[in-house]
Amino acid sequence: MADKTLFEKIMVGDIPADIMYEDEYCVVIKDAVPQAPTHLLIIPRKPISMLAKADLDDKELLGHLLTVANDMAKKTGIDEAFRVVINNGAGAGQTVFHLHLHLLGNKKFVENNLSF
Ligand code: AMP
Repeated sequence: MADKTLFEKIMVGDIPADIMYEDEYCVVIKDAVPQAPTHLLIIPRKPISMLAKADLDDKELLGHLLTVANDMAKKTGIDEAFRVVINNGAGAGQTVFHLHLHLLGNKKFVENNLSF
């Protein structure tokens, strides 16, 4: 069997993390190296390696992750201005190969600049 991903290890408690929310389908943690004052990771329990590997069966799960991003933006008070980022593949900056959404806020975002 394949080794557990870093995020699976966090989800089973093998590696500590600041868990902000969890439900049957996903876990939300604080990013260990925040790129903005608010930087959360929304991680599905299902270990999909990257967005491109999700299939039609994952449609509801993907919708759920965005709904949770929205809820967490409200809960953390950044719902007026936030950014949701998914890095897909090493060439796009993905370093942990377990799908996750970055939720970023409390930062001045530059128009037309999609970097963190
Ligand atoms: P990506 O580069 O899109 O794959 O994002 C991976 C993210 O995981 C990065 O923003 C890292 O800072 C974050 N990260 C790595 N290790 C940990 C950890 N142990 N706890 C929380 N976040 C982590």
